[in-house]
Amino acid sequence: MRQVSIERLFSDNRERLNLTWRAGRQGGNRVLTGDTELKPTMGQVGHMNFIHPFRIQILGAAEIAYLAALAEDEVRTAIDRLFAGELIAAAVANGETAPPYLVQRCNAAHVPLLTSPQPSPHLVDVFRYYLARVLAELCAAAALLAAALKFDGGLIVQLVGGGPVRLLVVECNPGPALRAMAQWDDARVRALGDDATLDALAGAPGDARLSITLDPRDGGPMYQGIVSLEAASVATMIEHYLATSEQVASRLALVASGGEVAGVLVQRMPSSLPIDDGVWARVARALGAAADAAVVAAARGNEGLAALFPDDDLRVFAPSSPRFACTCSRPRVEGALRVAGRAEIEEALAADGQVEVVCEFCARRYHFAPDEARALFPAGDTDAATAATRH
Ligand SMILES: [Zn+2]
Repeated sequence: MRQVSIERLFSDNRERLNLTWRAGRQGGNRVLTGDTELKPTMGQVGHMNFIHPFRIQILGAAEIAYLAALAEDEVRTAIDRLFAGELIAAAVANGETAPPYLVQRCNAAHVPLLTSPQPSPHLVDVFRYYLARVLAELCAAAALLAAALKFDGGLIVQLVGGGPVRLLVVECNPGPALRAMAQWDDARVRALGDDATLDALAGAPGDARLSITLDPRDGGPMYQGIVSLEAASVATMIEHYLATSEQVASRLALVASGGEVAGVLVQRMPSSLPIDDGVWARVARALGAAADAAVVAAARGNEGLAALFPDDDLRVFAPSSPRFACTCSRPRVEGALRVAGRAEIEEALAADGQVEVVCEFCARRYHFAPDEARALFPAGDTDAATAATRH
């Protein structure tokens, strides 16, 4: 089980973030599990949010200013609401002073309250790990590729490596609907520095590979392109893929920070002529030189795009809003269990008395009682299945 206690989170990041344990000292054994931390819609750590409460609530300058503008009874109501959910820890960033009522509530409920002089988006990033940032960038890249390809079906970006991260998968389906998952070695990921590059995460160059699969909705043939990973960032990796597999000159900029990811992809039209070389060079240069804030502004729409490409005539299409959606279902899980085979199911039944499958994308649990699990295999199959496993 991937999980980390607040005690551990504190000791691992104490120096890096100059953390102080301000209140709720007895809550150190509270645990943050890894089940949901990579779900874009339901992060575990984030800036104070009453509608989608995070399990670790971070209060930065904006949140403290918001509370400071409230009347005293409103402050109490707001802070009480934080405790209504599954709050396991709170952190006050930017060197702000923790509101006295928050200190009091944390002490009473044994909820650790940490403080740090560091900016709040940095706290969010560090608490979420470098890995979540890479996965966020891969999500943005998949959504941009799916939009650029104007392709009706699923687009699956998969990174397989021998490094601290074994597998990263991002799926973008029409909607656009995104789902993503990662498999990693916790200790090895934690051992990486703040500035760890993608190749450090995924393994030595040549050891890791990126595949992009297009799965048409009309049931037509699947298409898959594979490149070996020799890039330090998700953006350069996707650019390399597009240049080698798709033969399309592309520039991609991705920025993930503070629970948000933004991306801008520019591609040279296949129909462009040598006379367009100058335009392409200028546009590619502008995006390559853009500061993170300029990329985020451009990803938001017209004004930011116009600022990034001031000499160009821009036309903006209607925006679409990607959302998290998982395509797992009981029939699909049943299909996977049939593929696993009767022998493996019997093994699970003998060990646990039931079969449980957890979706790695959305953490939904599927339970099969012994009779339900055995019903997946039609009677009369027994001999064939047993014989197959013997060979
Ligand atoms: Zn699922």
